[in-house]
Amino acid sequence: MEIAIIGGGIGGLTLALALRRVGLSATVYERARAFARVGADINLTPNAVRALDPLGVGEKLRETAARPKFRISRDGYTGAETSRLPMSDAAEEQYGAPQLTLHRGDLLSVLEAAVGPDVRLGHQLESLREQDGRQVLTFTNGEAVTADVVVGADGIHSAVREAVWGPEHPTFTGVVAYRAVVPTAKLAGAADLDCFTKWWGNDPAIQIVTFPLTRGEEMFIFATTPRPSWTEESWTTPGRIEDLRAAYADFHPEARALLDACDEVLISALHVRDPLPTWSTDAVSLLGDACHPMMPFMAQGAGQAIEDAVVLARALQAYASVPEALRHYQDARLERTARIQIGSRGNAWLREGGNADWVYAYNAWDVAV
Ligand SMILES: Cc1cc2nc3c(=O)[nH]c(=O)nc-3n(C[C@H](O)[C@H](O)[C@H](O)COP(=O)(O)OP(=O)(O)OC[C@H]3O[C@@H](n4cnc5c(N)ncnc54)[C@H](O)[C@@H]3O)c2cc1C
Repeated sequence: MEIAIIGGGIGGLTLALALRRVGLSATVYERARAFARVGADINLTPNAVRALDPLGVGEKLRETAARPKFRISRDGYTGAETSRLPMSDAAEEQYGAPQLTLHRGDLLSVLEAAVGPDVRLGHQLESLREQDGRQVLTFTNGEAVTADVVVGADGIHSAVREAVWGPEHPTFTGVVAYRAVVPTAKLAGAADLDCFTKWWGNDPAIQIVTFPLTRGEEMFIFATTPRPSWTEESWTTPGRIEDLRAAYADFHPEARALLDACDEVLISALHVRDPLPTWSTDAVSLLGDACHPMMPFMAQGAGQAIEDAVVLARALQAYASVPEALRHYQDARLERTARIQIGSRGNAWLREGGNADWVYAYNAWDVAV
């Protein structure tokens, strides 16, 4: 069975490794000519780490990751703590894996190194069609290949999705995200630098989130706010530090002090789609942001792409018929990802504490497919 994965992001690379783990192989076609270290952070919650660990990358990820001790919620204006969930060893005990926070580039380079030569860089999918029961893929570099199964892991603007389900544009939410990384030494004296802390505003779009990166040597600062005039999506566009600080001028002094420590900031508009009713045909399927892009407020976009990858690999291994495998994969994943997409948009997850099990206790290696 020849499997073509379009997109060598977190989801596509994880799928290549998960397929290998169940005894199948695939080729990943990635449009970028080289992997670049962009994006600043990634917060991998226990469900994501538990899905990644059996792929043999866990040790490498832990070399640079931090393990936040608690997941804390604070009122953005008064500073009052509204919840404190133990993570780190407690999460490992409860869910079989800890929360890991690391540079997105470090995650991608660990995955990329593990996948190795099965990634073909400089391959941007141009068209996809069926011919004589096979999928024919053409790339903008002029190459063409055929495959039995095609998986679109090509992100929110998925070309696979458009080729099969037709054009449809994601919706701009009117919200922008600012991202900054600060040496932890610069924040000396600030509280809970070894924790994940979310400062909640009075609107679901307004928040500041901080957590440690690079074994605690750096702190990541993530802040969202309404800004209907800014629509550009980017992992690399610089924002204005004054705009960042002005947006939270009414926040608690401890939260503002975190922003005062930032020298540089990146800005990106946030886009979403509504949950899809279906994302598999008899030979083509989607995973990750290609089928269920979500707001980053539950930190589950990459986690759900990783879970998809494991469940899809297990379905392809379990069923002799590809259409059946793709249908079972979709059925196993659609309800959970739609619930998280909707929950992420509402942005109330764990504000006052509560039980995180329905998200964190999910075991992609064990769920029924
Ligand atoms: C500001 C922000 C913060 C976030 N923080 C978190 C977090 O802390 N935790 C978390 O779990 N999630 C987080 N997310 C979500 C997460 O980044 C995404 O859900 C995740 O990257 C999706 O992975 P993916 O592999 O599906 O898609 P992508 O990461 O978008 O990867 C798609 C890949 O496909 C390639 N591609 C695109 N088109 C083509 C084509 N035509 N041909 C070939 N290749 C193509 C792209 O170059 C890319 O490499 C955040 C998102 C944002 C915007």
